[in-house]
Amino acid sequence: MRIDTPMLLGPNQPSQAYPGGGRGARFRGLDAQGSPEPEDWIASVTARWGQAPSGLSVLEDGTTLKDAIEAEPEAFLGPDHVAAFGADPFLLVKLLDSAERLVVHCHPDRSFAQAHLGCAHGKTEAWLVLEAEPGAEVYLTFRREVARDELGDWVSRQDVDRMLEALHPIAVQPGSAVLVPAGVPHAIGAGILLVELQEPTDFSVMLEQGRFQGGDLGLGFDVALGCVDRAAWSLERLSHLLGPGLGQHGAVLPGAADPFFRAEHLLGSASDRIAGFGVLVVVDGVGELAGEFPGRPLPLRRGATVLVPYAAGPMELRGDVEGIWCRPPAPDAPRPARPEV
Ligand SMILES: [Zn+2]
Repeated sequence: MRIDTPMLLGPNQPSQAYPGGGRGARFRGLDAQGSPEPEDWIASVTARWGQAPSGLSVLEDGTTLKDAIEAEPEAFLGPDHVAAFGADPFLLVKLLDSAERLVVHCHPDRSFAQAHLGCAHGKTEAWLVLEAEPGAEVYLTFRREVARDELGDWVSRQDVDRMLEALHPIAVQPGSAVLVPAGVPHAIGAGILLVELQEPTDFSVMLEQGRFQGGDLGLGFDVALGCVDRAAWSLERLSHLLGPGLGQHGAVLPGAADPFFRAEHLLGSASDRIAGFGVLVVVDGVGELAGEFPGRPLPLRRGATVLVPYAAGPMELRGDVEGIWCRPPAPDAPRPARPEV
């Protein structure tokens, strides 16, 4: 396996309790066979919670990306990244295709994960919408403060109507970008295909059980509900979670995402240069990645997902093509428990 070239990655679809709508396969130009899986974990070193090795990306030679990075961390991640973060990419990228509204849930932040789950990562995430049916919505943050007992009551009675009623609905269109800080309750509506950036864990607390079982991270809901942000969010505060999105060239997420991950909208027509470790998701058009790496430029089209190792050197995206360049935080980024908004 060569670490000095960009690597095209195929689908990696650990099975989920809920169905996809086939948008992920169509996006990749593949036939959706059987009942389509909703999630595609790209360049993943993260296993599903309690179900390793499911979730881990496997490279062409059969090794997991996780083992490959641990064997040669500087070649994959670069010396500055390794000095700051060790052999940990600090990033998980997914494609997510919602055929139905997904359950109301939330994720722990770094402090909660450290205290209760023995992990330095929480799971702040962000959504970059590629496709959305007319009227599609996502839900995040409570409109009013919800008391601990009231939340516990909703969860134990599974009063989903009250949960949804308490959340801010947000209309989304193709190109929308939403930062979802760890702790805030959220749900993705039906009819959406998005690229998701996350801290590299699979920690979820299911306020709504839906098709899931458990959902308390093995902590019991008394403890698990301690990670929920029950505060009232004003629309003004919520607006700071919305990024510039894919309507323009450059950063797509709000600045508060920077300590967790970075994402940039690249246009081949701008001959965008990329360098260092990251994951490129080609969202439209046809083009190529060209650089000083061995071999020919790498041809790309909508739906291609590419792992770019540090050792492949700087390269350029060329052609009539658009991509999302997903990266871990900068090595010198601060490390708040959750985005400061
Ligand atoms: Zn989530």
